[in-house]
Amino acid sequence: MKGYLARVYAQVKKRNRAEPLFLQAVHEVLSSLEPVLIEHPEIEDSAILERLTEPERQIIFRVAWQDDRKRIRVNRGFRLGFSSALGPYKGGLRFHPTVDLGTVKFLAFEQVFKNSLTGLSIGGGKGGSDFDPKGRSDNEVMRFCQAFMSELFRYVGFQTDVPAGDIGVGAREIGYLFGQYKKLTNRFEPGVLTGKEPGLGGLLGRKEATGFGTVYFAEEMLRAHSDGLEGKTCVVSGSGNVALYCIRKLQDLGAKVVACSDSGGIAYESGGIGFDVLKAVKEVERGRVSDYVDRRPQAELKSEGRIWDIPCDLAFPCATQNELDGNDAETLVKNGCKLVAEGANMPSTPDAVTIFQKAGVLYGPAKAANAGGVAVSALEMRQNASQEQWTFRDVDDQLRQIMESIHNSCAGVANRFNRHNDYAFGANVAGFLRVAQAVQAYGVV
Ligand code: NDP
Repeated sequence: MKGYLARVYAQVKKRNRAEPLFLQAVHEVLSSLEPVLIEHPEIEDSAILERLTEPERQIIFRVAWQDDRKRIRVNRGFRLGFSSALGPYKGGLRFHPTVDLGTVKFLAFEQVFKNSLTGLSIGGGKGGSDFDPKGRSDNEVMRFCQAFMSELFRYVGFQTDVPAGDIGVGAREIGYLFGQYKKLTNRFEPGVLTGKEPGLGGLLGRKEATGFGTVYFAEEMLRAHSDGLEGKTCVVSGSGNVALYCIRKLQDLGAKVVACSDSGGIAYESGGIGFDVLKAVKEVERGRVSDYVDRRPQAELKSEGRIWDIPCDLAFPCATQNELDGNDAETLVKNGCKLVAEGANMPSTPDAVTIFQKAGVLYGPAKAANAGGVAVSALEMRQNASQEQWTFRDVDDQLRQIMESIHNSCAGVANRFNRHNDYAFGANVAGFLRVAQAVQAYGVV
C-alpha cells in the first residue's frame, strides 16, 4: 500500500494498535482499493476511507448475572455499530470467551462490506460477550441473556440496530433475548432481532441460510469454470450452525463430506458424514463431535493433526477466524484442493489466501461466500414488517438468487479491473463502491 491508502492504514494502526484482528481485516480491504482510487480521486477528497474505518459507535457494558449456585458472575458486553450508511446496523452477537473489542470490531467492519454486497438495505454492526455458554445450564444461559438485554435494549430497534446470532448464539439465545426485550419495552417488535424460532416471528430457512448460501456460492464459482459439486470430496471445519447446513447442502447436491470438527477434535468418515446423526448430536443434545463418533462405528475421531491434512477437492472453513494458515493452505494445494469457500468469518490467514491465489485455487472470501445468512436475516426483517409467513421454499429460492447475484457482482468487478477469478478483490471492491457512494451522498454527518 502507498500514498493515501498507507496514510489511512497508519492512522487506523495508531488508533487500534491492540486489535490485530481488526487491523488484519482493514489491511485486507484497503489493499484491494488502489485501482479504485485511480478511477475515483474524490474518495480521498471526501475522506471516505477515514470515515469507513472508524466505527460510528461502540458500546461496552457490564453484564452481571447469577449462576445456578447463586454466585454472581460478571461479563463484558459489546455492541458496535460500524456503518449505518446503507441501513440499520445489522450483524450477529457472539458469545465466546475470546470475544473482546477487537474481535467485535473486525467482525463489524467485515459486515459493512458483506451487507453492502447483498444489495439489501442493511448497515454493518456486530456484538457479543466473553460469556462462555459451554457447560452452562439452560437456566444460566437464560439469565445471562436477560442480563445482557437489560442493557442492550436501549440501543437496538428495528430501524436502528438489529442483532442476530453468531458463535454461541442460536435460536435458543435469540428467544431469551427477544423475551427480555419485549418485557422491558412493552412492545412486540419482532423485527428487532433475527434468527428467531418461526413461532416467534422467525423465518423458515434462516437457520440453514449461511451454510446453504456458502455452498450456493461455491456452486456458482464452479459453474463459472464449467465444473460442479457432483462427486466432489469435501472437508468442512466446525460442526456448529454454519458447518452443519453446509454439510447438508453439499450432500443434497451430490458431494461427499468426509470430515468435520470442533475445538476438541476431528470426525473423519471416508464414506461420508451422517448428517442426521450429526444434527441430532449438535442441535438436540448440544453434544461434541466425539459423541457423534461414538455413535458411528464407521467414523474415526482424530484428536491430533489438522483437518486440512485430509485430502479433499473442496474445503469449507466454517469454524472461526484464522483457522486455516499458510501451512494448511500448502497442504491443501499439495493434496489437489481446487476450491475454498469460507463459511466462517476471515478463517484463512493472509498467507493462506496468497498461497491459494498463486496456486490457482478458486477462493471464495467470507464476505461474499457467507453473506447468505445476513441476506436472509434481512428477509426476516421484511417478513416481520409485512406480518406475513413465508415458506421455506420462498426463502431458499431467494437465497439462491442472492448468492448468484453476489457471485456475479464479485466476478464482474474483478473482470472489469482485469483481476479475473480474484473473488477477494471483487468482493472488497463491489462491497466498497456501494457503501462509499452512500457515505458520499449524505454529506458530512
Ligand atoms: P456455532 O457456535 O454454531 O459453531 C461454531 C463451531 O466452530 C463449533 O463447532 C465450534 O467448536 C467450532 N470452533 C470454534 N472455534 C474453534 C476452534 N478454534 N477450532 C476448532 N473449532 C472451533 O457458530 P456458527 O456456526 O454460527 O459460526 C461459525 C462461523 O461462521 C463464525 O466465524 C461466524 O462468525 C460465521 N458466520 C456465522 C453466521 C451465522 O448465521 N451463524 C453468518 C455468517 C458467518 P466448539 O463447540 O468446540 O467451540
